[in-house]
Amino acid sequence: MHVSLYELDQTLLKAVLQEWGQPAFRAKQLYKQLYSQLASDPQQMTDLPQKLRDELSSRAAIGNLTCVREQTADDGLTRKVLWSLPGGAVVESVLMIYPPDRATVCVSTQAGCAMGCVFCATGKLGLLRNIETGEIIEQVIFFERYLRQHAAELSHRLDVPIPDHITNLVFMGMGEPFANYDRWWRAVERLNDQQGFNLGARHMTVSTVGLVQGIRRLADEGLQINLAVSLHAPNNALRSALMPVNDRFDIDDLLDAVRYYIERTNRRVSFEYVLLEGKNDTPELAAQLGALLKGMLCHVNLIPWNPVPGTPLERSHRERVLAFQQGVQAAGVPCTVRVERGVEIAAACGQLAAIPSPTSPIELHAR
Ligand code: SAH
Ligand code: SF4
Repeated sequence: MHVSLYELDQTLLKAVLQEWGQPAFRAKQLYKQLYSQLASDPQQMTDLPQKLRDELSSRAAIGNLTCVREQTADDGLTRKVLWSLPGGAVVESVLMIYPPDRATVCVSTQAGCAMGCVFCATGKLGLLRNIETGEIIEQVIFFERYLRQHAAELSHRLDVPIPDHITNLVFMGMGEPFANYDRWWRAVERLNDQQGFNLGARHMTVSTVGLVQGIRRLADEGLQINLAVSLHAPNNALRSALMPVNDRFDIDDLLDAVRYYIERTNRRVSFEYVLLEGKNDTPELAAQLGALLKGMLCHVNLIPWNPVPGTPLERSHRERVLAFQQGVQAAGVPCTVRVERGVEIAAACGQLAAIPSPTSPIELHAR
């Protein structure tokens, strides 16, 4: 298999091209082709000499991912892609368009996940493998290309403005980003690089199950990435029952790390809280959560649980969600309810399991 150009940073690209007898400035041109022109074929790189284009065609690949399936929902505003990775594992990523001016990609960082949260479809798979830096980047580039090509047509069809580029990234797809920290971080740097994809760090959010060493590392990185922490319970007994990771890092350890992050970055943290009927959604627990987080630079994002086949749980009813929200707010902690997207194509939070669903509309993507 050829090396994927998205696996190489500028220094490595330079080294490879140098080996091929090319001057250093060619690496800069190639980098620009990959991250801002978004060439999908070396022959499109018309600022490069023909000989180099041919060499790239025969010796390298623009990406390693194969798009196996695309599905759309919400009138075309949600788009889920199933990828097959070299080696056979499959992962998913989702584009969510919010007219008039926002388009967010939910990116996967691992195929499967080792964390085993009881309510999550990805957790049921176990960890299959880490996603490489270039493979993380490719998920983003794919949707950027898609928006460039289709925003005008979609905007015309829906009669609303649609952005022609990605405005936000959330690392909330399959996997635990901090369990694949180094590869994930290299992707973030390249996506943030002004000479690369050039997306501002403030437009990126990473969600963690609560790996405290990752939270502390991120705090020390010096980039203004938003942090979301999956809390889901205000006490250790309940959190451990839902999330095995709590036996390694309990709520005290977790909040210590979060306080460190806030101290270092001065950024507001969001706590995610999946609501499960009768399990973690009572008024007492809302009050406990409010008391736990009171005074912190944070807000709580409530997520009505999205169904995962074969899981004996129930999503909280709407009135309980609203009552819980009020309970948290009563303690002075800002609390919102997440707007849902893509439930019918299993593209919503925690539903990504990369399992073909024959009942959903299927479009094959020719690459
Ligand atoms: N591993 C990371 C990021 C991926 S999961 C983490 O756990 O934070 C992204 C978010 O979706 C997390 O807050 C997770 O708890 C939540 N989630 C998982 N399963 C869900 C489900 N079935 N319904 C709603 N949210 C879910
Ligand atoms: Fe992994 Fe996040 Fe799912 Fe937990 S919720 S199993 S950490 S992907």
